[in-house]
Amino acid sequence: MQRLKGIGVSPGVVHGRAVILIQRAQVLRYRIAEPRLEHELERLERSRLRSRQQLRDIRARVERRRGPELAALFDAQLLMLDDPMLMPQAEALVRSQLVNSEWALQQVFEEFGAIFDEVADPYLRERKGDVADLVGRLRMNLREGVSTTRDLLQAIEESSVLIADELTPSLAAQVDWTKVRGFATDAGSRTYHTAILARSLEVPAVVGLHEASRGVRPGQVVVIDGSNEEIIIEPDEAMLTRVARRSDDHRPAITAECDSRRSAATADGVAIRLEANIEFPDDLVAARYAGAQGVGLYRSEFLLIGSRGTPTEEQQYEVYRRMLEEMAPLPVTIRTFDVDEDQLALRSADPTLAGSWIAEEERGSRQGLRGLRLSLTRPALFKTQIRALLRASRHGRLRIMFPFVSGVEQVREARRIVAETASALISEGQAVADVPIGVMIEIPAAAYTADLLAREVDFFTIGTNDLIQYCLAVDRADERVSLLYEPLHPAILRVIRMVQRATRRRHLPVSLCGEMASDPALLTLLVGLGLREFSMTSGAIGVAKQVLAEHRSDALRAMARRILGLSTVEEIERELVAALGHHDVRH
Ligand code: PEP
Ligand code: MG
Repeated sequence: MQRLKGIGVSPGVVHGRAVILIQRAQVLRYRIAEPRLEHELERLERSRLRSRQQLRDIRARVERRRGPELAALFDAQLLMLDDPMLMPQAEALVRSQLVNSEWALQQVFEEFGAIFDEVADPYLRERKGDVADLVGRLRMNLREGVSTTRDLLQAIEESSVLIADELTPSLAAQVDWTKVRGFATDAGSRTYHTAILARSLEVPAVVGLHEASRGVRPGQVVVIDGSNEEIIIEPDEAMLTRVARRSDDHRPAITAECDSRRSAATADGVAIRLEANIEFPDDLVAARYAGAQGVGLYRSEFLLIGSRGTPTEEQQYEVYRRMLEEMAPLPVTIRTFDVDEDQLALRSADPTLAGSWIAEEERGSRQGLRGLRLSLTRPALFKTQIRALLRASRHGRLRIMFPFVSGVEQVREARRIVAETASALISEGQAVADVPIGVMIEIPAAAYTADLLAREVDFFTIGTNDLIQYCLAVDRADERVSLLYEPLHPAILRVIRMVQRATRRRHLPVSLCGEMASDPALLTLLVGLGLREFSMTSGAIGVAKQVLAEHRSDALRAMARRILGLSTVEEIERELVAALGHHDVRH
């Protein structure tokens, strides 16, 4: 029995078998039941074979297109695939520790990485990137069906407790809390949002434990005691009996069932529309199950992955038609391809290549030619997509949305193409529905001209993922500046309010679809700023409804007003925690 002291952020006591989540590496560690061991090893082997085949295909293709020198880059990875340090080591870990393959691969990668870090030769040191790439590919190929951390979290067994290095609210929002009884995290200083979430779910939680995710093994019984601010690893019988007696009072606050049928509203009955962000048509099942009131963002560029060349009009039409039919009568917002030139070339040339081997400098310099801007320079590509969309429009409630817009002229040009395409289809005798056309507000220039853009379109969707990075000059993928990527920066709140006001004047529908909306605390602030429509990952919808139902809209408005008068992120955070962490904002 071992006790670890932390900060109790949500009271109550529970116990369960530990599931370990290392979010920094996005790897979940869980125990493999002994009878499943052979199956797990087969999974690892299948991933190796698939990775080898993909690498050989890529090598051949790159050699054809870019010559042997570049193609040779993949030889190193092919060799590593057969290195006794890699796969056999991972296999040995799975066997000896009965852990999942993703975790075993990550462990081996860390050992490998440490060796590379020590080599003096810069060329050799750089090979660490190859190992990372290869391990990433192996992990991707392990997925087969269960694909994301979110899925893994959903697959957790009953009566578990989650031990994580850190737990972001958007991930916490995706956990099935009917199975996970409580959680503990190493981090503590910046987990305030998750702490609020834990309290509103009434899930016991202890944070700030520093090393818990390393010290606890998957499958070990752990007590999470939020009231006494500690966790107890492998408690003895007497302790367990005491815990069981105390935890009898504790019941999970929500059930998956009641949650999906209820539509979202604040405590005083202000309706909030919650739609789903999806990347693949298969995600619609989860969206419907979560009770999404439509699809607020379908990132259609994901269609480019896995297709050889860009998908034809017919292929696209089939996908769009199926999605519209499946969601009808609810609306589906399809965003036209949001890629840059490199991604377009790579994604369509090679389904498995993420583009990671393109030099960063090269990518950076081309960053601006993306989204609608790129579509307008590739009329054939754009028109094909628009034709497919318009043809599909009669099968449901389609909305078309343009990404990465920075000026009115782009919108006019795009709308002209849509109108011409519609006329052409009608003259061919095809039925075309009246389709609302909207734009993403995700570049500061678009936000500053929101009043002008509002005259040109039927709706806005605020994309805070990009808006934050461009407003704050923080590359969202660059770890070195990631701490500056701050949704609560006063500039971001002001820019959102500015866009919201521009739409209110024209009665233009506006929704917000960035990651921000998946964070329940930020969501309440956005409601306070006047927004009423959101689109988020399906897994976050249940918790969003739960949290919204706990707060009155007038209290949220007052909170937002106070927050808009504050100058720093820290002051804003403090105000948010104070306002939401206490139950006096409830009705
Ligand atoms: C955004 O920028 O907020 C957004 C939702 O789009 P993406 O994350 O696909 O760029
Ligand atoms: Mg974006």
